[in-house]
Amino acid sequence: GKNCYRYYSRAMDHAVERRVHMEQELRGAWERGELRLAYQPIFRMRDRRLVGVEVLLRWQHPTLGTIPPSVFIEVAEQSGLIEVIGPKVLRAACMEASQWPRGAAGDELFVSVNVSPRQLRGGELPALVAQCLHESGLPSSRLHLELTETAVIGDEMLAAQLLDKLHRTGVKVWLDDFGTGFSGLSHLRQVPVDGVKIDKSFVADMQRDPDDLALTTAIIAMAHALGITVVAEGIEQEAQFELLAQRGCDLGQGYWLSHPVTATEVVRMIDSGL
Ligand code: C2E
Ligand code: MG
Ligand code: MG
Repeated sequence: GKNCYRYYSRAMDHAVERRVHMEQELRGAWERGELRLAYQPIFRMRDRRLVGVEVLLRWQHPTLGTIPPSVFIEVAEQSGLIEVIGPKVLRAACMEASQWPRGAAGDELFVSVNVSPRQLRGGELPALVAQCLHESGLPSSRLHLELTETAVIGDEMLAAQLLDKLHRTGVKVWLDDFGTGFSGLSHLRQVPVDGVKIDKSFVADMQRDPDDLALTTAIIAMAHALGITVVAEGIEQEAQFELLAQRGCDLGQGYWLSHPVTATEVVRMIDSGL
C-alpha cells in the first residue's frame, strides 16, 4: 500500500520476540543487582597520567551471561527504560566517585557519564544533575556528561538552551562518537560543548586510511581553535597513541591504555600513583 510494499518473514517474529523478552528481563534488572558500572580510565596524552574515567554499564544476566551495552542500550532506549536506568547510573556514579581519593597529580578524577538522547527529552536532566551532585557531594567540576552528536543535531536552539542549563550546574559536556554523525565541525559553533570524543572508528582506521588521519588532525586543530578539549577513544595500539599525541590530542582511552575496570581497581590505580 501507499506506493510501497514490505516483506515479512518469520525471522522478524523471532527478533521481535527476543526484543520483548529482553525488555521484560531488563525491567527490574537494576533492582536485582544485575546491572553494574564499569569504569574505563582516561589518560592525559602529554604525560599519560590518569585524569578521569568513563562509566560504562554492564548487564550480568543470570542465564544469558554478560550482555553488552551495544545490545541492551538500544532496547532500553526504544522501550523508554533508559529514562529509569539512566538516572540510577548517574546517581551511582556520583556517589562512587565522591569516595575516591586524590590522585598523584593532586587532582581528583572526573567521572564521565553517558546520557541517552531520550534523557534529554522533557528537560529534567539539569535538575537531576544538580540533585545528584548535591546528594553525593561530588564537586560539579568532576562530573562530565557525554551526549551523542545525534542528540543535539536537529534543534540547535533547544540544544544550546539545554547546554546552557547544564553548564550552570557546573558540569562539563562532551560530544561522544564525534565525526560519525557528519554534522561535523560547523555545529561546534552553535552547540557550545567543552569537549569532543573522536569516535573509535577513526582511531582504528587512522594508520591505513589517510583520509581518517587527515580528518582526525583537522578535528583536533578545529576543536583547539574553539577552545574545546579533544578526547580519543578506542586506542588499541601504541602507534595510534603516538599519532594522536603528536597531533596534540588532549586525552585518550582505549584497550592499549586500560580496559574498563571495577571501582575497586580505580581506587587501586589512584593509590598506585598512575
Ligand atoms: P561509548 O560511550 O562510545 O563507549 C565506548 C565503548 O568503546 C565502550 O563499549 C568501551 O568498552 C569500548 N572501548 C573502549 N576501549 C576500546 C578499545 O580500545 N577498542 C574497542 N574496540 N572498543 C573500546 P561498551 O561498554 O560496550 O559501550 C557501548 C556504548 O553503549 C557506549 O559507547 C555508550 O554509547 C553506550 N553506553 C554504555 N553505558 C551507558 C550508560 O550508562 N548510559 C547510556 N545512555 N549509554 C551507555
Ligand atoms: Mg561514551
Ligand atoms: Mg564513543
